[in-house]
This record gives sequence, structure tokens and C-alpha cells, in this order.
Amino acid sequence: MTPITKLVVASHNEGKVREIRDLLSPYGIETVSAGELGIAEPVEDGTTFAQNAEIKARACMEASGLPALSDDSGFAVRALGGAPGVYAADWAELPASEKAYSGVRRDFDMAMWHVWDQVSAKGGDDLRAHFVCALCLIEPGKAARVYEGRCAGSLVWPPRGDKGFGYDPMFVARGDVQTFAEIEPEEKHAKSHRAEAFAKFIAAEFGVVSG
Ligand code: IMP
Repeated sequence: MTPITKLVVASHNEGKVREIRDLLSPYGIETVSAGELGIAEPVEDGTTFAQNAEIKARACMEASGLPALSDDSGFAVRALGGAPGVYAADWAELPASEKAYSGVRRDFDMAMWHVWDQVSAKGGDDLRAHFVCALCLIEPGKAARVYEGRCAGSLVWPPRGDKGFGYDPMFVARGDVQTFAEIEPEEKHAKSHRAEAFAKFIAAEFGVVSG
């Protein structure tokens, strides 16, 4: 296996790119993001995290000729039958008129309200939720390799903390009392869905097993 020394992080989400860079930094891999290379975002029309991850990685690999690593992730709420799931980002999407006016594309306060409204409408008794992350690595001329991780916990309301992104302020991982947006990023990186997927990725691709 030829070692990978440089790869494209197939994401336009700054929060994710930052986390992926932090997670890859110990392995001496040079990274460049899809946004920095001006690669357009493909349409994510898969119905699973793995399918969407492959769509993103393949688009970046084909556009750059470099190995590409994508992360497709989302938030699944048990009382909502797993929604928003692969549509987690869509629930934050602002109407076109508002985007044009404010220049802001997504509003996660709105998305969290939407989740909480729907959970409350179902009685608000079942607060179980989990994050899922599918990482997909594609090297030119090779088949895609996908690694999945998950982090279980529960919803809290109102949202708390400003350290994370997305749905972090309304999620407390199992065994914790603080939300993902209240704990330090290093602590989140050690236990998140992305951390679990990364541990599998690193073990398989670099032969390093993390404790
Ligand atoms: P996508 O993978 O770019 O389609 O977007 C996944 C969406 O899931 C993100 O925009 C976030 O809303 C949410 N999400 C994924 N991972 C996390 C996380 O670690 N914290 C908070 N929200 C997340």
C-alpha cells in the first residue's frame, strides 16, 4: 500500500474541515479542502450516510486527481424515527430570499427549534439521539473504503454552549452532563461519532490502533 501523504478533505463545512484536520494532524498528512480548491459541491442524493460520503469523495477525487476523504454525518432522533438523519444540514437551510438578504446559508438555531418542536409534539418523553459519521476514502483508480462511527446520547433543551457546531448545543453524550458545545473540542474529538469512524479509518489505513 502506497502511503497517503496528501489528501483533499471533501467538505465545504468549515467546522468539519477543522475537526478532520485536527484528527489527521498527528499522521503528517497534508490536507487541502474542497473549498480551497474551488471544487463544486456535488448533489448529495444518497439515502444513507455511506452513499453520500462516497458521492462527495468521488467528486473531489475526480476533480483533483488526489486521494479524497469525505465525511457524511448527521443527527438521528429516536422519537422522530431517525430524522433529521441524512437531512440534518437541510433542516438548517434558509429560504433563498433570506440567504440573499443575509448572506447566511444555514441557521442551526432554527434547525434545533424544529427538532425540539417535533419532539415536544410527540410528548417529549423519548430524548434518545445519536450522531452518525461515515468517512469515505477514495484513491484514484481504487474502490471506495467507508468507515462508520456513532455516538449515542440524549437531547437537552434549551441548547447550551458555543464551542461546537450544528446540533452540538442540544446533545449530551451518554455518561456526560455537558453538551457537545460545552465540552472542550479535544474532549469531543475523543468520543464523538467522527472519532469512532476515524479510529476505524486510522487502524485500517495506517495500521495504528488508538486506545
Ligand atoms: P453533511 O454531512 O455535510 O451533509 O452535514 C451533516 C450535518 O449534520 C451537519 O451540517 C450538522 O448539522 C450535523 N452534524 C454532523 N456532525 C455533527 C457534529 O459533530 N456536531 C453537530 N452537528 C453535526
